[in-house]
This record gives sequence, structure tokens and C-alpha cells, in this order.
Amino acid sequence: MQSDPGNQDVDVALIGSGVMSANLGTLLKSLDPGLRIELFEVTGELARESSNGWNNAGTGHAGICELSYTPDRGEDGRVKVAKAIEIFEQFEKTKQFWAHAVREGMIDQPGDFINPVPHVSFVYGREQVDFLKSRHEGMTAHPFFADMEYTEDREVIRQWAPLLIDGREDMPVAATRMKAGTDVDFGELSRKLIHWLGRQDGCAFHLGHRVTDLNRCPDGWELTVRDLEGGRTLKRKASFVFIGAGGGSLPLLQKAGVPEIRGYGGFPIGGQWLVCEKPEIVARHEAKVYGLSPGAAPTMAVPHLDSRFLEGRKALLFGPYAAWTTKFLHRGGSFWDLPSSIKPHNWLTLLKVGIGNLPLVGYLVQQGLQSMNTRLEELRNFYPDAKAGDWKLIDAGIRVQAIKKEDGDAGIVHFGTEVVTSSDKSVSALLGASPGASVCVDIVLEVAEKCFPELLGGKIAREKLEAMIPTHGIDLVSMADPGEIEQYRKWSRSAEEALGLTEG
Ligand SMILES: Cc1cc2nc3c(=O)[nH]c(=O)nc-3n(C[C@H](O)[C@H](O)[C@H](O)COP(=O)(O)OP(=O)(O)OC[C@H]3O[C@@H](n4cnc5c(N)ncnc54)[C@H](O)[C@@H]3O)c2cc1C
Repeated sequence: MQSDPGNQDVDVALIGSGVMSANLGTLLKSLDPGLRIELFEVTGELARESSNGWNNAGTGHAGICELSYTPDRGEDGRVKVAKAIEIFEQFEKTKQFWAHAVREGMIDQPGDFINPVPHVSFVYGREQVDFLKSRHEGMTAHPFFADMEYTEDREVIRQWAPLLIDGREDMPVAATRMKAGTDVDFGELSRKLIHWLGRQDGCAFHLGHRVTDLNRCPDGWELTVRDLEGGRTLKRKASFVFIGAGGGSLPLLQKAGVPEIRGYGGFPIGGQWLVCEKPEIVARHEAKVYGLSPGAAPTMAVPHLDSRFLEGRKALLFGPYAAWTTKFLHRGGSFWDLPSSIKPHNWLTLLKVGIGNLPLVGYLVQQGLQSMNTRLEELRNFYPDAKAGDWKLIDAGIRVQAIKKEDGDAGIVHFGTEVVTSSDKSVSALLGASPGASVCVDIVLEVAEKCFPELLGGKIAREKLEAMIPTHGIDLVSMADPGEIEQYRKWSRSAEEALGLTEG
């Protein structure tokens, strides 16, 4: 329950109510029901920043349709698919944990947060078609993607996603499809998990509470927390702190002053969507359709046309359009976020990355300034008959990409997710945003394994974890034995049944 924060010290303090804190909190409490866990959220509602349904694409990233995970060809000319396989495996674990939460009655009505939606990759032009064909050959060699269909037949694509074909000029096209894709409302999931956590003994969450500082104390950390409504400041001691503050994580880690943060910087990239809620159009598209990146677009700005299930209704989302911003958070962020994150230990890294990424900066500025007509032209690459009046522009979440010291040398922006943990394992934070929420259970398992080895080490804990995430510790990436494959499929089916993802 959201309760009045008293003066109790806690075992675990979670900063932020997004999908990362929600999953870490529930995982730890499930492993050790005796843990005292408290969560602080600065806004007046749970999970309304990046994890909020309208602020992200809600794709259950499984590597199926996102061509940005497989951009390269090997020396033999074939598209390399290892990253897609890795992401599929991570999402599999995440689904298994959520299925466990449903089975145990921790959360109800999975249809509120996860729904089956076919995942489609769609390309046009001979070069792109050749790429997709090679990708499909590589993908279907792995049991994860054995069911992936491929076609260059416009009529088949029309059956899969008619909006892609109607009105399209004659050109080579191709698509792959897997029916077993998902749309996820990560915000709704977070709210369900945090409400469960708040009902457990020794646990609570507090809205309208901003963590403003972190200082070391003998047995861990002392948090300074500002109660925004009550206008008071409180202190809380915690043996372990998880900074799951999204864009707010970097400034908090800098305040904590752990040496591991030296050299890290943040590079915010804002986003926008075109949204269509017109029932006759929404009803004609039931898929998440990903294409290839246009020109200088960063990987996270690869366009896609998405079926969404949000707040009990269906909608179409197209984008994201990237945008230049200096804010780290959508709600309550400040244009000073980027300037004030520049410190003596990271300015050089940021400068080198800035210089090395001028085309990216130019792209972001141009994207932010483009007219509705230009945005519609991009949409029409996917949906040629799109009409301006059917779509409106909304803001998406901000991704604060982590920049590391070594990235400065290479001059690159790091698009992955980074878990930064202090050497004494008393504080851990998540930086970066990709592939993000879909692999949150894999990420929080990493945090739990590093920082709570005693929780995961014993026989009982291992059995508990196996019940929650049966494939944890099993190498699914290189499974080849038919018995292993059959076993994996049983686990996968069981998770899908619990989450209501199976047909019929
Ligand atoms: C445009 C876009 C599209 C995306 N698409 C996808 C997708 O399709 N699939 C996918 O898997 N992932 C996607 N992601 C990534 C995904 O949204 C994020 O990885 C994920 O939501 C991050 O969750 P989080 O818990 O770390 O942060 P958040 O959800 O941002 O939560 C952080 C919370 O911390 C709070 N907070 C911040 N500072 C403080 C403080 N000082 N004190 C207290 N509270 C604080 C914030 O208010 C917020 O509620 C997308 C992201 C964006 C921006």
C-alpha cells in the first residue's frame, strides 16, 4: 500500500516506479518474503514515464521483426542473426516470470498488459528484399524462429497487413511474419506488480516523493527524500538501493558519487508518435510492422506501424520520430538536465561523442523541426493511403542513452542498456534504454545475482527461481537436441497459456 513513510530502515529502496523497479521488487520479495522493500516515485502516479503505454512502442522485443538487431552480414554474405536470438531468449525469461506472477495470483487479467500481435518485418526495393530473404534463412535455422514465414507475394502481405499494400506502386516487396509476437503495456504491468508489492508485509510505495540525494552510511545508504505534497524532507536508510529512475538515474548515481560512474554521460533522445484511433482504420491493421532505418536514423528511430492495446482500447502508433532535447525526463524533467550532468570526469567523453555524432545531432534537430507533411511522407512508406486528418502527433518517452568512457574514444553513442553497480554491491542503477522493458527480467536477474548472491545461491532459492523462470541458467541459444527443444517449447507454451497468449 501507499503508506505514510515512517522512520523504518529498509533492506531495499527502489527509486522510480517503472518496469525495472517493479520487476526487481517483485522478484526479490518472491525470493525472500522477509525483505523490507520501499519504493519512491516522484510523480503522483505509478509508471507514467518511459514505461507508460503511450510513451513507448509496447513491442515485446523478441528479435522477431526488429531489423535493427540484425544489421550486418558476415563474411559469407549472410545476415548475422545472433543478436536477435539473444533478445528472444531474454524476452522468453521475462514472459516466464510474468506468467509465474499471474499463476501465483500476484497480478490478474494479463490481457490488461499483454496481448498477442503478429510481428512483421516489411521491406521494399530489391536490395532490402535480398536482405530480408537472407535474414529469414538465418533466423529459421534456430528453433526460436522456426515458424517464421517469408513472402514476396503482395497478396499474401495484403492478407497479413492490408494497409501496407493498398495504394502501393509496383516495386519489389517482401515480408516475414511470426504470429507469436506481443504488444505489452509496460506501465499497466508495472502498476499491477507494484500494487502487489505494496500489499506485502514490510513493503510500501510512496507517490510524490523525490529522492534528492544518496549518501553512504555504515550499513548501506541514507536517502534524502522530498515529500512534494507534504512539503517535508525525510531520511531513509537502506542496505541496498536500486536506482530505477529512468532518465533520472544518471544524476542520482552522480550524487551517490560511486567511482564506477566516472566517465559515464547521458545523451537524451526525445520521441514522438503519430497516433490513429479511427475504428475503421485500426480494425484493418493487426500487426507490429518494422522496416529498415532511413539514412542517419539511430537504431531506436527505425520506423514501425504498431497495433496497440492501451487502456482497454485499440489504436495504431507510427514512429518514433526522434527529437533533440536536453531533458532527461518527460514529466518533471528540466532543460538543464543535460548541462548539469556534465562533470569533470565525463566532459571529454561527451565532447568526443558529440563531435563523432554530428550527423546524428543534425538528424535529431531536423526530425524535431519537420512538418506534419514530411512526417506523413514517412508514414506513407508503410501505409501509402494514409490521410493527414486521421493521425495526430503525440510525445513519446525520452531515452537517455548511456555514454561510456570507451565510447568517447570510439566516438559512438551506446544504444544498449547498462547496469552500473558499486564494487560493494550496495547500489545498482540502470542506464540506457534498449532493448529496454522487454528484457527487464533478464536485467533485474543480473542485478539480483550480483547484489544478492545469498538469495540465489542456496538449493531452496534455486528451486524457487526454477519455478519462476524455468529456463534460467539454461543455454537456449545453442540448444540443438530434440528433447531440449521439446522441453523449451513446453515451458514456452505454459507461459503463453498463463498470459492468455494462446489462440482459442
Ligand atoms: C520512444 C520509446 C519507445 C520504446 N519502445 C519500446 C518497446 O517497444 N519495447 C520495449 O521493450 N522497450 C521500449 N522502450 C524502452 C522502455 O520504455 C524503457 O526501457 C523502460 O520503460 C525503462 O523503464 P525504467 O523503469 O528504467 O524507467 P521509467 O519507466 O522511465 O521509470 C523511471 C521512474 O523513475 C521516476 N523518477 C525519476 N527520478 C526520480 C527521483 N529522483 N525520485 C523518485 N522517482 C524518480 C520517474 O518519474 C519514473 O516514474 C521505448 C522507449 C522509448 C522512449
